[in-house]
Amino acid sequence: MRKQIKAYIVLPCYNEEAVLYETCRQLLEVYEDMKRQGLISSSSRIVFVDDGSRDRTWDIIEELEEQHAEVCGIKLAHNVGHQNALFGGLMTVREECDCAISIDADLQDDIHVIPDMIKKYSEGCEIVYGVRKKRDTDTFFKRTTALGFYKLMKVMGVNMVYNHADYRLMGRRALEGLSQFEERNLFLRGMVPLIGYKSDCVYYDRNERFAGESKYPLKKMLAFAFDGITSFSINPIRMISTIGTLSCIFAIIMAVYAIVEKIMGNTDVGWASLMCSIWFIGGLQLLGIGLIGEYIGKMYKEVKRRPRYIVEKFIGDR
Ligand code: UDP
Ligand code: MG
Repeated sequence: MRKQIKAYIVLPCYNEEAVLYETCRQLLEVYEDMKRQGLISSSSRIVFVDDGSRDRTWDIIEELEEQHAEVCGIKLAHNVGHQNALFGGLMTVREECDCAISIDADLQDDIHVIPDMIKKYSEGCEIVYGVRKKRDTDTFFKRTTALGFYKLMKVMGVNMVYNHADYRLMGRRALEGLSQFEERNLFLRGMVPLIGYKSDCVYYDRNERFAGESKYPLKKMLAFAFDGITSFSINPIRMISTIGTLSCIFAIIMAVYAIVEKIMGNTDVGWASLMCSIWFIGGLQLLGIGLIGEYIGKMYKEVKRRPRYIVEKFIGDR
């Protein structure tokens, strides 16, 4: 008989009291199914990571852990954000499991493809990406901004799986690889493809959040996109340099033109073009400095080497 897989499902939760019971119920159903089919072993676990919630999230996790032997809980000491919380959860369980599946607590991603992920893992894939087929449950706004985001990332040279968020399976070796990334500015969907290993995708339709509200308002989404770009790509700085070079060449041509005009005796060159170029170049410089500052800011954060997460306690037997 082939060895049964010990799979851990990891869910970051921030103020998710409205969804936890239902999420747990649905996950246990899928869990039981997979166990019955012999896909996973009974030592597999469902791990809720409480990202410093201010509501009853942790109480509910404790309650669920008491009721179900399959459920574990990790409580982070304070709110560190989705990416850090997920990373924290994965790193905490990485020595215990054969593979870990990360998924949001609101179950917008279809949990019924988890068995397919496990199958692909048992066929030798170290990373299995959950990819959304279409986006008709999203608002027009979210759809277009998301599309723009993936396009922009591509232009910026960041290697990402299209329409894949943070729903994925990672084998133990991939998790080990991920643990070697020392950076503090986490952008997991950009980092995971850098790990390598054999990977594959499973496709699913994304649902709407069934309760509670999104923790990613526009402001956070933009910050996330900006973070993704500045953590992964130096193309913006190169673009600025290119524009700077072009504008210098343009200025030289303009100067030559002005001298020629002067020699020919046409004197009224000057004020307008001068002012324009001063403002133009000044603006460019400011933009360039701002961008460089952005990178320096990142370096500043990196050199501080703050802990990305601190586990307060771990409950449940593992
Ligand atoms: N989340 C978290 N910490 C935060 C914000 C969000 O752990 O500071 C979790 C949240 O509980 C959820 C996941 O990250 O499980 C994704 O959040 P959400 O569903 O609100 O984002 P959306 O699907 O709207 O992009
Ligand atoms: Mg969601």
